[in-house]
Amino acid sequence: MQTTIQSAITFKGFGLHSGKPACLTIRPAEADHGIWFVRTDISAEGAKIPARWDVVQTSPLCTLIRNDAGATVSTVEHVMAALAGCGVHNALIEIDGPEVPILDGSSVPFVRKILACGVKPLDAPVFVIEILAPVSVQTDQGWARLSPSEAGQGLEMDFHIDFVDRAIGRQNKHLNLANGAFVRELCDSRTFCRAADVDAMQAAGKALGGTYENAVVVDGDKVLSPGGLRHWDEAVRHKMLDALGDLALAGAPIVGRYEGHKAGHAMTNALLHELFANKSAYRIVSCDAALALKLPGAGVERNEIPAFH
Ligand SMILES: [Zn+2]
Repeated sequence: MQTTIQSAITFKGFGLHSGKPACLTIRPAEADHGIWFVRTDISAEGAKIPARWDVVQTSPLCTLIRNDAGATVSTVEHVMAALAGCGVHNALIEIDGPEVPILDGSSVPFVRKILACGVKPLDAPVFVIEILAPVSVQTDQGWARLSPSEAGQGLEMDFHIDFVDRAIGRQNKHLNLANGAFVRELCDSRTFCRAADVDAMQAAGKALGGTYENAVVVDGDKVLSPGGLRHWDEAVRHKMLDALGDLALAGAPIVGRYEGHKAGHAMTNALLHELFANKSAYRIVSCDAALALKLPGAGVERNEIPAFH
């Protein structure tokens, strides 16, 4: 069945790129509502923005959505990943500014509160997007691909990154997102950047809220953030977290295999455009009981949230 959250949960923090304070409240929503953002700091008319692939605007460092009235919310990917990874299909996300608070740079603060308040079943079936044929996008930087998953499986992911900084280097990870794998393996991995890029980002008005506490900063073979890494391959795990958040903008769980090779937000969004332009590459089907057990969020337990210091 579709789900929502049991009760409203609130998060306060700062935007990673804007550096501005932000307060975000996730509220329960009815079946077939989907995920919507609403800007509480602008007039009701034109304040609602669907969390959907076709309203994403190109933005190199985060995922930004914009409605027809021009209202925007940026850096939606970590809260979207938390909702998808906990199996929440319907929610209304109120926010009092243009950027989701970055919190600790991962999805774990969202996951903790979602699982503490609980996920509530609704009286309506879940529909999934089943990938029937491969679609892919490629740029000078890398590529991303969606293809059918193994029979009976939900969403599988393969990701590969390659950075010159030896603190990151080459990392590969494969993960089947069934059985709470997002919560166990991905949700606590933080956003990261290269120290060499910080000045250029800030000169371009980005990362103004970035600190060593909300992003892993690496310089060559050194990790500058105090406490070091939460996983030796935290960077590729975070890229997979981002990919899940960006794929959640499809509007329904994807049943298929996602592969990202040095992919990022723009590439994953271009992949969704490619998918929905190819009617024969997918179908929307009602989820049966066996498949429901393979979707992200099924069977997740609160005590599986990783502990770290
Ligand atoms: Zn991210």
